[in-house]
Amino acid sequence: MTDPVTQQARWVLASDNAGKIREFNELLAPLAVTVLPQGDFGVSSAEETACTFVENALIKARHACEQTGLPALADDSGIAVDALQGAPGIYSARYAGAGASDQDNIDALLAAMADVPEGERQAAYHCVLVFMTHATDPTPLICHGRWQGELLTAPTGTGGFGYDPLFYLPEEGVSVANLPSGRKRLLSHRAQALHQLMASLGLHSSAP
Ligand code: IMP
Repeated sequence: MTDPVTQQARWVLASDNAGKIREFNELLAPLAVTVLPQGDFGVSSAEETACTFVENALIKARHACEQTGLPALADDSGIAVDALQGAPGIYSARYAGAGASDQDNIDALLAAMADVPEGERQAAYHCVLVFMTHATDPTPLICHGRWQGELLTAPTGTGGFGYDPLFYLPEEGVSVANLPSGRKRLLSHRAQALHQLMASLGLHSSAP
């Protein structure tokens, strides 16, 4: 394959998350691209050794390209809290330690924020999405979606995952865990990064 965005292209996704694979395939359907999980090629997860979302996404994408010879998509995401100088950041999935559950991470974040008053609880979800045509591609596409909110003092709602029960959206008047899933798909940090990517690839996209 010479052109990564022409008919019947195959890309590898540097993740084995079934939900992400489905979401990417749906959104990229107009490009006639099939996104395949790296596990289909026997690729194991790259070690995320950097300290920023963008570097980790680049590491993951490059690793998937190297191992498969295909163009690769990778994302790295998490929540950054102003009062905690951006923590949990790239450690969002394991803020309460290796193997932490969503509830463990929520509890750890509530504890870290215990003394932070209302009005100083701003946070943002970030998603950095990288697209690379080959492992030594000197011009990867890098897209960054950011979704601004505030941290509640107690979890509210049962939808979504991760920190969604704590993440309050002032303009919607609910936590993300109480936001209809269709609305999350439209507004989220991931959706914003994907729309940027599609625009970068020359595909029309209505901004969320
Ligand atoms: P991943 O790298 O996209 O799988 O996400 C890293 C971590 O960031 C997740 O395990 C969650 O803790 C957090 N995170 C990322 N996106 C979201 C979201 O949309 N809602 C809640 N938590 C999220």
